[in-house]
Amino acid sequence: QARLLFPMMGLLRVALDLQTSQSLFARIFQYLDLSPAIIDAPNARAVSPAALGRVEFVGVDFRYPDTEARSRLTLKNISFVVEPGQYAAFVGPSGSGKTTISYLIPRMYEASKGHIMFAGENVTDLQQDSLVDHIGVVSQETYLFHATIADNLRYAKPDATDAELEAAARAANIHKTIVSFPDGYDTMVGERGYRLSGGEKQRIAIARVLLKDPAVLVLDEATSALDTVSERIVQKALDVAARNRTTIAIAHRLSTVINADVIFVIDGGEIVDRGTHVELMGRDGVYARLVAEQIRMTTA
Ligand code: ADP
Ligand code: MG
Repeated sequence: QARLLFPMMGLLRVALDLQTSQSLFARIFQYLDLSPAIIDAPNARAVSPAALGRVEFVGVDFRYPDTEARSRLTLKNISFVVEPGQYAAFVGPSGSGKTTISYLIPRMYEASKGHIMFAGENVTDLQQDSLVDHIGVVSQETYLFHATIADNLRYAKPDATDAELEAAARAANIHKTIVSFPDGYDTMVGERGYRLSGGEKQRIAIARVLLKDPAVLVLDEATSALDTVSERIVQKALDVAARNRTTIAIAHRLSTVINADVIFVIDGGEIVDRGTHVELMGRDGVYARLVAEQIRMTTA
């Protein structure tokens, strides 16, 4: 039984990290349903440190398993490379497939065609648990267990010392807030617990990711549910978390992608353009239109 449970825990861990707006249980069941497809290959290996942080898609097509076979592909012929330590941004209209790409990196779903490489190896040759250990996710909304803040942080690293918790919380700019709570790190949060603001929850999620210290950090519109003031504070913490690791940022606000090493523009499930901000602005394409649209919206 332990043999089966172990990879399952990895899935649960990703499921929790990938929490978005749906309830915890809906997400867990969604991923449990997927689990037969993600049982390790008999000779699956742990992620090797050689090319740790490298992510590559090679001609990936993807269709959600529960959609009609004849329905259109969600992702079409996606190919890209993100080198270790790079900051890559994915931008594009809502529904273009950005979040779906983020699901394929930790192999929450199988590619319908092509393959996904993590640290230089096909994800289908890797142990799921090892793969998940090297990926951290901060998405739009963070789920907190009904437990203490310390427990919520330690879920990323069960053997973390108090000093490690505090260091991560400081780096995520949430330590001072935590110690101002009635019970400090022992404050109960989550459902029925102490009510945290959206920005506070996101900074706890960032502290969690810092404790996990993954080679690859995925940010899926991590600040999109926040007001302008807390967005700025959370963005600062995200910039700290992105240091010294590969970061794949799905950005709703284009101001956060200006300094990206590479920007991939997604439209209708395809990469329609790629380059730096300056390169993309020099072309009269989807990116320049998205930027113009955002300027119009913020000045309206
Ligand atoms: P984005 O993050 O760019 O807004 P998504 O990757 O969430 O886009 O969605 C891309 C497309 O896939 C959309 O048409 C969406 O409706 C569809 N989709 C997303 N999740 C699922 C799912 N679990 N099952 C079927 N279709 C889905
Ligand atoms: Mg999305």
